[in-house]
Amino acid sequence: MTGQERSEEKSECVSLSPMREAVPAPPECERVCVCGTGDLGRSLGLRLLQAGYGVVFGSRRPHSSSSLIPHGAQVLGHAAAAQSAHLIFIAVQREHYDFLVPLANQLKGKVLVDLSNNLRKNQYPEANAEYLQSLVPGAEVVKGFNTLSAWSLQNGPSDANRQVYICGESVEAKQAVMAVATKLGFSALDRGFLSVARELEDFPLQLFPQWRLPLYIATGLSAAFFFYLLIRDIIYAYVTQGKDISFRIIVSLANKVCPIVSLIMLSLCYLPGVLASFLQLYRGTKYRRFPDWLDRWMLCRKQLGLLALGFAFLHVLYTLIIPIRYYGRFKATEHTVSVIRENRTTEFDTTTAWRGDSYLSLGILGFSLYVLLGITSLPSVSNVLSWREFSFIQSKLGHLTLLLCTAHTYLYGWNKFLSSSTYKWYTPLGYMLCLVLPSVVLLLKLLLITPYTHTHRHTQNNTLSVMTALSSRHELLFLCYYTLKGWLTFNHRLQCFWDLKKTAITFN
Ligand code: NAP
Repeated sequence: MTGQERSEEKSECVSLSPMREAVPAPPECERVCVCGTGDLGRSLGLRLLQAGYGVVFGSRRPHSSSSLIPHGAQVLGHAAAAQSAHLIFIAVQREHYDFLVPLANQLKGKVLVDLSNNLRKNQYPEANAEYLQSLVPGAEVVKGFNTLSAWSLQNGPSDANRQVYICGESVEAKQAVMAVATKLGFSALDRGFLSVARELEDFPLQLFPQWRLPLYIATGLSAAFFFYLLIRDIIYAYVTQGKDISFRIIVSLANKVCPIVSLIMLSLCYLPGVLASFLQLYRGTKYRRFPDWLDRWMLCRKQLGLLALGFAFLHVLYTLIIPIRYYGRFKATEHTVSVIRENRTTEFDTTTAWRGDSYLSLGILGFSLYVLLGITSLPSVSNVLSWREFSFIQSKLGHLTLLLCTAHTYLYGWNKFLSSSTYKWYTPLGYMLCLVLPSVVLLLKLLLITPYTHTHRHTQNNTLSVMTALSSRHELLFLCYYTLKGWLTFNHRLQCFWDLKKTAITFN
């Protein structure tokens, strides 16, 4: 530093009166510069001071800087501040980066950390960090810290996101920034070269990207089943019998929609896995990329599962309030009174008791495992599980959950599907529709765990042999053919059964 520059720094330097407890940085501590005394600059400066760094703020108006500046920091003009440190944080909006152009020579070889974000995606043709690099070609630009908010910096990593993403061309520069991040209590992750900067800048603008598809599916399914059941249950009763049972929309209908959507969404969590396995068997190798749609689907399984759990939870709550509903109490009283009035005796039906208890018990077991799946999908829990533990819970117990919930629904429906009166306006019951997907998933999973395919998939690491019963394409086609044929035969028999039943009713 020349004598003239030193005197310039002295004249620009402002001593700040203490605002909080004085924690002046030790004289020998490493100095870092923060350009910009706005919200982010001040929060970062405070944390740097607390971590033991000497902080010099670079400001347009060093003499009239805000009294909010953390105590212990110096405020200088941009040139003097940049001169005083090797590591410089740029906490200024991209639109004002031109103040750095006259300092280009002075910034040669220094590390500039670009903290900026944009207001929307693709706001500028190039990333802010790349733009900064083009303005100051001699400096080592590193993108980082932009995914943290001023609030989280002020409150410390324990109360917010701990992750700091870094990218840049120079390894040394990135290491210097990562060292600061670690000292501040964050965990830094090197995301690669400066070309990744745009991705990091888009990160704070994301709005639940992985939740979008599952939310669309949940909304679509809820709306579709709500209208389906509204027509079947409420409108049908009104049109055919003139009965207004619209009050059932609030609880009864909701308690039908929730389990239906929950079961379908749980099946949608496990369907991509079995489809992927079949695809691998069909291709004879696991070393080929899955189609994009399957990839996307598999990536949002956690969100699908958590939403499914939410719907299951609502189903449980709705079910719990059934006994205290006016409608439920009225029906029970009405039944008792009519039995007494007509002097009837009611027989205890063991089958119904068995069915009721089994259906409730399966529901409770299924829901408990459902909750376990949800809990273990939380990062704080999954982080402490080994891969084997995680896959045991999410895959094995997950399929068991699906099995229990499907069995719960089958028992709930019992033999209602055999009665033609349930087919109002020729539409099947909601529970019948929701059973299709889980049944298919469980059937496919059963095929995958048959000893033949199972052993082969696990013993052949690199290539899935084409010699197995299912890996041969022809045999896979045969399997599909026989499954379809079986289904058609079952349908035909069911039709004959109904015809016979109808004939019997007519003769009686
Ligand atoms: P801010 O409160 O508006 O502060 C910006 C600072 O930039 C001002 O205080 C000013 O400091 C300086 N500045 C303004 N105009 C200037 C000009 N023409 N030339 C030179 N310097 C100028 O903004 P902020 O919230 O701190 O954000 C700063 C940057 O960090 C932005 O790019 C933002 O996207 C990014 N960021 C902010 C947050 C956050 O939580 N706030 C989080 C992540 C990233 P002086 O008056 O001292 O010169």
